[in-house]
Amino acid sequence: MTGQQLTSLEEAIALLLERADPVTEREIVTLAESLGRILAEDQYVPADVPPADNSGVDGYAVCASDLEAGHALAVSARIPAGQAPAAMEPGTAVRLFTGSEIPDGADAVVMQEHVKVTDAGIVIQTEVSAGQNIRRRGQDLCAGDVALARGSRIRPQEMGVLASLGTPQVPVWRRLRVAILNTGDELVDPGTALKPGQIYNSNRFTLLGLLAQAGCDVALCETLRDTREATRATLVRAAAEADLIITSGGVSVGEEDHVRAVLEESGGLSLWRLAIKPGKPLAFGEMDGTPVLGLPGNPASVLVTFLMVGLPYLRKRQGVAAYQIRGEQLPAGFTVASTSVRREFVRARKVRDGQQVTVAAYPNQSSGMLSSACWADGLAVMPEHTTVSPGDMITYYSFAELLG
Ligand code: AMP
Ligand code: MG
Repeated sequence: MTGQQLTSLEEAIALLLERADPVTEREIVTLAESLGRILAEDQYVPADVPPADNSGVDGYAVCASDLEAGHALAVSARIPAGQAPAAMEPGTAVRLFTGSEIPDGADAVVMQEHVKVTDAGIVIQTEVSAGQNIRRRGQDLCAGDVALARGSRIRPQEMGVLASLGTPQVPVWRRLRVAILNTGDELVDPGTALKPGQIYNSNRFTLLGLLAQAGCDVALCETLRDTREATRATLVRAAAEADLIITSGGVSVGEEDHVRAVLEESGGLSLWRLAIKPGKPLAFGEMDGTPVLGLPGNPASVLVTFLMVGLPYLRKRQGVAAYQIRGEQLPAGFTVASTSVRREFVRARKVRDGQQVTVAAYPNQSSGMLSSACWADGLAVMPEHTTVSPGDMITYYSFAELLG
């Protein structure tokens, strides 16, 4: 335990990454099922993409050096897309369409809009230079190159590229199995009427959504009562079923904070007072060899700590090679008058006014206010020891980038 000192975000992430062992088991999925998965092997290009020179437009293939201004060229063949072309007869033109392969003997394509069709053939009404409107063989990908590297996360465009290589099945790392344990005697699931003293368990659903978007399987999802025994028993069960346990609440230093206490007993607990706001208490430990990430209890803190601390760790465990969040530099549209020793992640959104884009902050940044995160489309960073005035450049992370 780090005592009363604050731990910087960078320090916490570095410590977590040191202890983040990527999954080692791979599986094969069909290309159609590969969205969101992480490639377990480099994907080489078996043959040039596209496999042959082809036309970028609907028009006529010609040989640029054959052309004489004003002369009609006979149309000697027609090549629809999907047909192998025969060589072009010298001194003629060949009708073709977007994607049609270029016949031997032709070196340019003239758009049909620049051609007059006459009884004697076509008359070209534009300058023609060799290579025009031809998409070269291998211009997308060359045989032997690595199209996609191991550790890449498969988005729709990666699915398309894999298809263009002719790959029907993809080797991916198996999904991480994560257990969600929400602690608190006050918690009730939606669907049950609240009794005095109770609140609905919102963290459970925030985390279910976050983990689904991050491409994890949820192995177990339970609400933990605030007793040492219940906490220990469920942590043991979760450890047997999951690759990672994420808890919410119960990691402060209060006497009802049993996650902290049980992890302390089982050894190897790091408990940090993170120098970020919201989200001060954060725990990382192990139960029977399974890592446990203990997030704070407050709903907005869960969202922020998951995104800013949990996700870099999770991505590494999933086998992602380079998880990097760039953020954007944008002018603030608000004032933060007093400095803080903690870096603040403000629920914020981009606002466009004519040409100008600024970042607006939700007025109430209480860590218990989750609705502010629905108003927001990202998090703006208030650096520690800094005040902010309208127009000052600040870093903004969109939720889309964080989870993309
Ligand atoms: P704790 O860290 O357990 O003291 O929780 C801090 C605050 O977050 C308290 O107000 C809790 O009631 C609230 N809280 C903890 N867990 C949840 C949850 N799963 N859903 C909604 N609020 C929670
Ligand atoms: Mg609690």
